[in-house]
Amino acid sequence: MSMPAAEVVRFTSDLIRIDTSNYGPDQDGPGERDAAEYVAAALAEVGLEPELYESASRRTTVVARWEPAGVDASLPPLLLHGHTDVVPTGDEAHWTYPPFSAEIVDDMLYGRGAADMKGSLAAMIVAAEEYVKANPNHKGTIALLITSDEEAAAKDGTVRVVETLMARGEKITYCMVGEPSSSKTLGDVVKNGRRGSITGNLYIQGIQGHVAYPH
Ligand code: ZN
Repeated sequence: MSMPAAEVVRFTSDLIRIDTSNYGPDQDGPGERDAAEYVAAALAEVGLEPELYESASRRTTVVARWEPAGVDASLPPLLLHGHTDVVPTGDEAHWTYPPFSAEIVDDMLYGRGAADMKGSLAAMIVAAEEYVKANPNHKGTIALLITSDEEAAAKDGTVRVVETLMARGEKITYCMVGEPSSSKTLGDVVKNGRRGSITGNLYIQGIQGHVAYPH
C-alpha cells in the first residue's frame, strides 16, 4: 500500500473508533466533539488553520482553510465537505465485527461509518494534506468543512456554519462532498448535486378512528 493509502486507512480507523452516533435532535453529541478535535489537530499539523464551531447542544463543526499569501483571485476556492456523525448501530449483537473496532478482514475495513462517511472524510483530509505539501506555491484557497449533526435532524451542523459564513459575507464557489455514491465499484459515479430534501405537512380530513387489529 502506498503511503497515502495506508494513512487513509489509519485515519479512517481512528475516526471509526470514536463513537459519533447521532441520537437525534437536541441530544448531546460528545463523540462529534472528540472527532472534530482529532481532525482539527491533524489539519493544524500541515498548516490548514482549523476553527471549531460548537452549538448549544455541543455539536461541533470544523472549518479549516489553506489560504496562501498572495492568493490568486482567479482561482476559485475549493471546499471539501463531509460529516463526522454516524447513524446509531442498533443492536450490536447483530454485527459480525464490533461497530467501533475498525477491524480489517480480507482487506476490508469494517465499522460504523466506514462508508458513510469516515472513509471519504479521511481520504479528503489526507488528499488535502498531500496536495498542500506537494504544492506549497499553489495560489488558490483549499478549505475543508467537516460538520456534525448530518444524520438526524441536521439542524446544528451545516446550517449553523452556513449562517456564520453568510454573516461574514463568505461564499463557496466549488464544493466536493465525499458522500458514498458509487453504484457497483468505488468511484464509478460522480454526482453533480445531491438529492436534497423537502419537508411538508400532510393534513388529512375525515373522522379519526382506531384500528384494533393492525395486521
Ligand atoms: Zn453521509
